[in-house]
Amino acid sequence: MTPAKQLPDIPEVITDQKAFCTNCNCHHSIPRAPAAHAAMKLMARMDKELKTSYLYGEALGKMFGILLCRSRTGKLVTLKAFSGQYNGNWELKGWVPPLFNVSAFQQLSFPMEKKIKSLGKMAASLPPDSEKYKALLKQRKLLSQQLMRDIHALYTLHNFRGEQRSLTRFFPKGRGIPTGTGDCCAPKLLNHAAIHNLHPLALVEFYWGMANKSATKHEGHLYQACEEKCGPLLGYLLCGSKELSAP
Ligand SMILES: [Zn+2]
Ligand SMILES: [Zn+2]
Repeated sequence: MTPAKQLPDIPEVITDQKAFCTNCNCHHSIPRAPAAHAAMKLMARMDKELKTSYLYGEALGKMFGILLCRSRTGKLVTLKAFSGQYNGNWELKGWVPPLFNVSAFQQLSFPMEKKIKSLGKMAASLPPDSEKYKALLKQRKLLSQQLMRDIHALYTLHNFRGEQRSLTRFFPKGRGIPTGTGDCCAPKLLNHAAIHNLHPLALVEFYWGMANKSATKHEGHLYQACEEKCGPLLGYLLCGSKELSAP
């Protein structure tokens, strides 16, 4: 039996999650504190929910999230999410899905990735100073960039006004979209709630597993949504959530 984990206490003050909305040029917010208890409960049964050995191996730990919601009929609903993929899976039963259609994603990425790999293999057999080598690498780079653009175009964000917007519209044209944008827990959770007419009450994210390489994330700690990837998205995702008041 593994000894019980020493986890940090729930902080006394948990600030709300705030984000700027380009839809209405103001900040929207959602409380984090009321979801902390549900997050602690999920931490306590992580080993029952998932094969957690994955989080202590090469992949290291990852962020998880909880969104407390109220349904149209007044029922309390607890949604949960993992960031990115879990051990190669985009979808797992009981966890909210990503912001795109998974089979469309696979149909798009599998053949392209094969092509990109084969270009790399072909190049590897050539002298690095040859024209052919350089041409192959350039072609590979262009294909990878095209694949990223096509993948990002599959991501659709829904808000609580019943609107939807492609991920590509949140970032200025010509500048890249940070890798993994849209795959964090907060966007997955809010998007899922909006699609299913659930009124969001509280949102919190926590880290689980081996600390990340830069040691900025530690098991059992609660975190704000990330600034780089989620900052540009969250305002839009929260838009209209206050108007959906109690039934
Ligand atoms: Zn994020
Ligand atoms: Zn708004």
